[in-house]
Amino acid sequence: MKQRPGAPEALPRPVTDAHTHLDSVAEGEDGLSADESVWRAAAVGVTRLVDVGVDVESSAGAIAHAERFDGVVAAVALHPNDAARLGDRLPAELARLEALIDHPRVRGVGETGLDYYRTTEPAAQRLQKEAFAAHIAWAKAYDKALVIHDRDAHDDIADVLDAEGWPDRVQFHCFSADATFARRCLDAGAWLSFPGTVTFKPNEALREALRITPSDRLLVETDAPYLTPVPFRGAPNASYLVPVTARFLAEQRGDDLAALCDALHANATAVFGDWGEGRDDRG
Ligand SMILES: [Zn+2]
Ligand SMILES: [Zn+2]
Repeated sequence: MKQRPGAPEALPRPVTDAHTHLDSVAEGEDGLSADESVWRAAAVGVTRLVDVGVDVESSAGAIAHAERFDGVVAAVALHPNDAARLGDRLPAELARLEALIDHPRVRGVGETGLDYYRTTEPAAQRLQKEAFAAHIAWAKAYDKALVIHDRDAHDDIADVLDAEGWPDRVQFHCFSADATFARRCLDAGAWLSFPGTVTFKPNEALREALRITPSDRLLVETDAPYLTPVPFRGAPNASYLVPVTARFLAEQRGDDLAALCDALHANATAVFGDWGEGRDDRG
């Protein structure tokens, strides 16, 4: 893996990294601790993060980060690829996960959805759908945002949401489809969240989706430690690299950078609520 990039120029206005995995960023010899992730990001204007769990343990970890840092809120879930592997143990794991949701710093249920890239067996895909339906029901019952993971499963995801009913606030994390599917999601009231992949040369259809997304439906994310934007593709990602992607979004859309930052930040509040930065109850 390439060396970790240096800090980019700070953004003119604060923005939110709408999807990251602090525990995964911290892994390995030269991982960044959660503290380092949070402070390096804040130093370049990325003042708020959504830390996302993929199983019971990492979801509990995300909640611990959200309790510790004013700039972090949590999303909790069984990732679709984990759900697919659980077999008979799925209902018990879903029950353990549900016990975490009703917490004031948990603002999202997800990442959940379907992943047909890594999960190809029909029986395993059925488990993904079962888990996805449970997460959709929780997002509504607990009034949390639904965080969608969609890999090569665009239409099936929207079909499940149509059948179950879309929650009020749905984020397509790591949006990866074209303008046609973007319209379907936008018409259903969803927010589209763009990571570093939007900077990758072959992804012109994704950039078209970006350009047709209204500024009040747009989010930016890292999905760190993955999907590092060009020119750092292949290096480890972390929230302090959001400015690289945010600048690219502004260029592609012809937006003023400061105005775009304000929109990205306000949209994150619309989806995940107030972070409560500066609250004075830190222990
Ligand atoms: Zn994902
Ligand atoms: Zn993720």
